[in-house]
Amino acid sequence: MSEDQNVKSCRKTTDSGEKMENAAKINYQKKLDEIIKGLDPELPPPVLLLHSCCAPCSSYVLEYLTQYFSITVFYYNPNIFPPEEYHHRVEELGRLISELPVKNKVTLIEGNYDPEEFYRAVKGLEKIPEGGERCFACYRLRLEKSAQIARDIGADYFTSTLSISPYKNALKLNEIACELGEVYDVRALPSDFKKRGGYKRSVELSQEYGLYRQDYCGCFFSRQEREMQRQAAEKAP
Ligand code: SF4
Repeated sequence: MSEDQNVKSCRKTTDSGEKMENAAKINYQKKLDEIIKGLDPELPPPVLLLHSCCAPCSSYVLEYLTQYFSITVFYYNPNIFPPEEYHHRVEELGRLISELPVKNKVTLIEGNYDPEEFYRAVKGLEKIPEGGERCFACYRLRLEKSAQIARDIGADYFTSTLSISPYKNALKLNEIACELGEVYDVRALPSDFKKRGGYKRSVELSQEYGLYRQDYCGCFFSRQEREMQRQAAEKAP
């Protein structure tokens, strides 16, 4: 697929005239398949900036995408609370990258950890339950920095591991990435990594590599929600 075609297909996804019900049916895995099919195996692999939230979510995505791309993993997650959790996740990610057999080169860069960036981005949305507007602002914060870094390092594409989670909204993630891709002039790689058993495979790989799997998304609010759910379950008859 040419660059022009790719940008057009990205625009089509975010066309404001497109009805929501049609948008919800977009198969991002199929779009990714088309891009991969268009790659020339005789040429060096394109460079992908892959935003990563944690090692478990990255495991399947790296196993899959390193077959086709040279990957720079970008760990940028100012949303994570508390700091010990943030540091533990990036350590696990580094360990995974050093142990996972991959076809093409993988490097890791870490973004700035300033939780204030997150609290500013979600101001006024704190009480919205997981999966709503607070999360969309959180996706945007992390994807915007990823698009900037992708542009700065001259990457061909950028994307995020986030869509592997059944709790994440793939439509929103792809819409935001497409929009930012146009702003920063770098191609957004379509993704819905939970398709084709991606999430299940990430659980298997996490077991195989003994990866730490957190039981909440990452921010203070999601940890609080999980705690309340746990307490409610304990009280249930
Ligand atoms: S629940 Fe997850 S995606 Fe939503 S705001 Fe918190 S860390 Fe971000």
